[in-house]
Amino acid sequence: MRQCLTNPDGGYYTTTRKDDADQFGTEGDFITSPEISQIFGELVGIWFMTEWMAQGRPSQGVQFIEMGPGRGTLMSDVLRTIGQFGTFAKSISAVWLVEAGEGLRAKQKDVLCGEDAEMKEVRDHTGKNVWWEATSKQGIPVRWVEDVVLLPDGTGGSGDQKTVPFIIAHEFFDALPIHAFESVAPKPEEVQEEGQEVQSKLLGEMGQPVPKPSTASKLPQWRELLVAPTKPKLDLSSQLGNGAGAAAAAAHKQPEPDFQLTLAKASTPSSLVIPERPRYRHLKNQVSSRVEVSPESSRYIQEFARRIGGGVASNRSSKEGTGQSPLDGNNGGAALIIDYGPLETVPVDSLRAIRRHKIVSPFVYAGEADVSADVDFVALAHAALEASPGIEVHGPVEQGFWLGQLGIKQRAERLVAELTKRGQFGSTEELERKKVELETGWKRLVEAGPKGMGKAYKVMTIVPENGGRRRPVGFGGSVVG
Ligand code: SAH
Repeated sequence: MRQCLTNPDGGYYTTTRKDDADQFGTEGDFITSPEISQIFGELVGIWFMTEWMAQGRPSQGVQFIEMGPGRGTLMSDVLRTIGQFGTFAKSISAVWLVEAGEGLRAKQKDVLCGEDAEMKEVRDHTGKNVWWEATSKQGIPVRWVEDVVLLPDGTGGSGDQKTVPFIIAHEFFDALPIHAFESVAPKPEEVQEEGQEVQSKLLGEMGQPVPKPSTASKLPQWRELLVAPTKPKLDLSSQLGNGAGAAAAAAHKQPEPDFQLTLAKASTPSSLVIPERPRYRHLKNQVSSRVEVSPESSRYIQEFARRIGGGVASNRSSKEGTGQSPLDGNNGGAALIIDYGPLETVPVDSLRAIRRHKIVSPFVYAGEADVSADVDFVALAHAALEASPGIEVHGPVEQGFWLGQLGIKQRAERLVAELTKRGQFGSTEELERKKVELETGWKRLVEAGPKGMGKAYKVMTIVPENGGRRRPVGFGGSVVG
């Protein structure tokens, strides 16, 4: 997944296409909520404002941090919305964008800062942190890094000022690599029959029987599902243009996959990435059950948790010998994770690819299709809680519910009324078309069903620990004045 998506040489997100087309929208491979309706980003902006209010309206040090901003539409809608609330807007010190793709960084710059704006490389006073920077249309510094580990701690400079990180990851975690495992029964020869045990007894120094040390387990074990090449194609006739391959191509069928999943014969080091938690142990004991685990997702969510709640020093800081992370003691901000995946269960067999709005095998079109997997929200929550004692997690809840709580219906009605009032459209047909676009857009975000995103997508948040006394808006709470 990592190589297919972000390898600098041919990765899906890291390769700029010849025609300047990108991955999103009707012309691309898939469409995301912020591209479907502007209301999505507006409500995300409003949600962060409700958190800012609930956290005592800090007057400075607010950072917006987005993971994988795509075309930059979501952040653009967030900043436009916040711009209407002066005090909140003034509290924002910087926008940080974590984006692996160079072409996408350039697009985000155009959308947020304007096509004429220049993107400069900046190094802070410590000399350790480097990023690209431009200024947003609202006058806020926008900074880009390629990976979460390159995000400077704290304020990205002075270090000692308290920061309020507002972090958003929309359709980001689904792009992070997973490991998959299947539970297998112990091999027959590994199982010791009662009689066998007696036979295999050895004699000790004093002639007493010593049971043979047994490393074999009687319990089911995890075996990794590995990506292996398919058998080399020996069918030369297809290369001569008259075989099965040519026939498939002529019929516009999907080509044969280059890779396949195979079950490892023995335990692989990756088994160590499965956390020691009851939900995995329970599944391991049921032969043939499968799990997907994403250690990289844990790394990201733990970084969010530490930034919001302070906590155990991150590896990076402790390696530098500081002992304490500059994030220690920080307590403020919020993270919003919106993605698809089950509410509670461990994802299974969810690796998939999408190309030109169709689901295809993840083992064809490497680097030319969007490869993704379901997000394990419960695993994210566990990892976050382990990383910082200063946070709490709310959700996941279904996207339809969350947007409903934030007033998506009322906002859509208002936009429709404004459209009619403004009278900027040349013809009534044009006005009608715009109205229909708005209506179908917001409904798609909340509806269930195969085309709707309201049920499949979930929203989860990490907020500073407050003893569960205050529930965030959209997760059972209401606006705090
Ligand atoms: N949030 C956007 C785009 C989602 S697509 C939207 O909703 O429209 C995933 C985004 O994450 C892309 O911008 C992609 O380039 C970026 N991305 C994927 N893997 C990444 C990684 N490992 N590190 C940084 N960015 C990554």
